Amino acid sequence: MPPRSRCGLEIRMRTILRDDHELFRDQVRRFINTQVVPFHSQWEHEGIVPKSVWLEAGRQGLLCVMTPEVYGGGGGDYGHSAVLIEELARANATALGFTTHSEIVSNYFVAYGSEEQKRRWLPQMAAGALVGAIAMTEPGMGSDLRSIRTFFRRDGDHYVVNGAKAFITNGINSGVVVVVGKVDPQSRDLTLLCVEDGMEGFTKGRKLEKIGLKGQDTSELFFDEVRVPEKNRLGDEGRGFRYLSHQLAWERMIIGIRAAASIETLLQETIDYTRERKIFGQPVLDYQNTRFSLARAKAEATMLRAFIDECLGEILAGNLAPEKAAMAKLLGAEMQNRLLDDFLQLHGGYGFMSEYKIARAWVDARVARIYAGTSEVMKEIIARTL
Ligand SMILES: Cc1cc2nc3c(=O)[nH]c(=O)nc-3n(C[C@H](O)[C@H](O)[C@H](O)COP(=O)(O)OP(=O)(O)OC[C@H]3O[C@@H](n4cnc5c(N)ncnc54)[C@H](O)[C@@H]3O)c2cc1C
Repeated sequence: MPPRSRCGLEIRMRTILRDDHELFRDQVRRFINTQVVPFHSQWEHEGIVPKSVWLEAGRQGLLCVMTPEVYGGGGGDYGHSAVLIEELARANATALGFTTHSEIVSNYFVAYGSEEQKRRWLPQMAAGALVGAIAMTEPGMGSDLRSIRTFFRRDGDHYVVNGAKAFITNGINSGVVVVVGKVDPQSRDLTLLCVEDGMEGFTKGRKLEKIGLKGQDTSELFFDEVRVPEKNRLGDEGRGFRYLSHQLAWERMIIGIRAAASIETLLQETIDYTRERKIFGQPVLDYQNTRFSLARAKAEATMLRAFIDECLGEILAGNLAPEKAAMAKLLGAEMQNRLLDDFLQLHGGYGFMSEYKIARAWVDARVARIYAGTSEVMKEIIARTL
C-alpha cells in the first residue's frame, strides 16, 4: 500500500521529492511548531514579525535554501523551497515574508547579481540579518509593468531614483529592495536597481491595513532623489523585463504549491471537524451533502497535487513553460478560494470565528487570486498560447 495522509490523499505520487527533501521537511516543521505557531496570532495583532524570528530562521538554515553554500545559503534546489512553502502553507503561517526574501529576491541576486553584490547581500540574507523585498507595483500601476513610473535618472556613476511603490511585502523590515524602474521615461525597457535601507531620500510608508495576511509586513516605499551607485544595478540596463519574466514563472508556481498544501490541510481539518460535530443526532460528515462536497474536494486536491508536482519536476529540470506556471497559479488560487469557502460553510458559525484555522486560511487565501499577477492576467498569458 502506498503511504497515505490522514484524509487518504495518496502521497505515493510524490516521487518528485527525495529523502533529503523530506528530512528538511522535519526540520522546517520543528521550527514552525516551536518558533511560529505559538506567536502567530500576536504577530497578526501587531501587523509585523520581529526581526529576531528572521535571525532564528537564519540560524536554523531555513532562509535562502536555494542559494549556493558559497554565499551562505543552503545549497538546495526548488524541491527544498517547495517543502518550505508547503509547510508554511499547512500552518497558515502567512505572517512570515520568508518566501519573498528567500525564494524570490535571493534568486534575483544569484541569477543576475555581480560577484560583489552576491558577497555583499546573500550571506546576510541567509543569516536573516538583512531582509529582501522586491518592488514592482506602484500606486497607479500593477498588472501593466511596462507603464511603470519610477525613474532612474543617470548622473555620472550614480542613478537618481524618483517614484513610489505600493503593497510591498517585507517593506518595513527590508534592508535591500530590488526596485523596478526606467532609465529612459520614453522607453518601455525596465531596469532593476537595488536600493538599501538608510539611503538618503528612501522612506518607508505606513504599514498597510489588510483584510488578510494581517501579520505580514506590507507597505509603501517612496524614493525622492535617492542617489544609488551604478554598482547597485542588477544585471544590464534595460533588460529588467526579461529578468522579471524569467523569474515570474517560479513566483507563480509558489502560489500553486501553497494552494495545493493549503487545500490538503484544510480538507483534513474539515473532515475532522464534521466527524466530531453532531447535528440532528448525526455527525455533519454523515450528511450526503458533506460527503459529496468533501469527495469532490478530495478529487480536485488529488488532481491539483499531480499537476503541481509535474510543474515542480519541470522547474527542477529547468524547462517549466511560463504559460504552465500561469496555469498552476490560476488553477491553484481559484481552486483554493472555492474549496476553502466550501470548507468554511461546513464549519457553520465556527468557520467565521478567527480562532478556527479555516477562518484565517479563508481570508488569507483571497489574495492568491490577486498578487504575483491576477487570475485575469494569468488567463491572458495562457490565452496567448492558444
Ligand atoms: C498582500 C499583497 C502583497 C503584495 N506584495 C507585492 C510585492 O512584494 N511586490 C510587488 O511589486 N507587488 C506586490 N503586490 C502587488 C500585486 O502584485 C498587485 O496588486 C497585482 O499585480 C495587481 O495589480 P493592481 O493591484 O495594480 O491591480 P490592477 O492592475 O489595477 O488590476 C485591477 C483589475 O483589472 C484586471 N486586469 C488587469 N489587467 C487586465 C487584463 N489585461 N485583462 C483583463 N483584466 C485585467 C485585474 O485582473 C484586476 O481585476 C502585493 C499585493 C498584495 C495585495
